[in-house]
Amino acid sequence: MTAYDPENIFGKILKGEIPSHKVFEDADTLAFMDAMPQSRGHTLVIPKTGSRNLLDADPQVLATLITRTQHVARAVKAAMQADGIRVVQFNETAAGQTVFHLHFHVIPVYDGVPLKPHSGEMADSAELAGLAEKIRSARKRRA
Ligand code: 5GP
Repeated sequence: MTAYDPENIFGKILKGEIPSHKVFEDADTLAFMDAMPQSRGHTLVIPKTGSRNLLDADPQVLATLITRTQHVARAVKAAMQADGIRVVQFNETAAGQTVFHLHFHVIPVYDGVPLKPHSGEMADSAELAGLAEKIRSARKRRA
């Protein structure tokens, strides 16, 4: 398997070299808005420890990441008043992975609203900032 390369986009977000709209951060995990959301509130949850995807991840890192993903998913559902939440994760190009730092997609689903394509249109940054604020507030209310 190809080795993890820390110069990927999410590695750069972790290093603070690229901006992001953060919704959650602790010692192990960062969650931020997807720049090309498939629905309103689409959020990404990543470990701070680098791995390419699920296949090369340390099981302990994965165990922590899925609990943080649950925490973020609950906040996203509450903040967005979504009808459901899809959690998605791709491994390698053939499976649809485009950024090679392990991440879970937390995608709100709204009854009757089809999801937009994966890695489609860039969202408006001000709108993402507003959504991130809503999710942060919902997270704090739930904590
Ligand atoms: P993957 O295809 O690897 O599962 O998902 C990568 C995700 O990262 C896509 O949903 C895409 O929209 C998102 N993305 C790509 N570049 C950036 C970026 O620079 N910032 C943020 N926040 N998301 C990005």
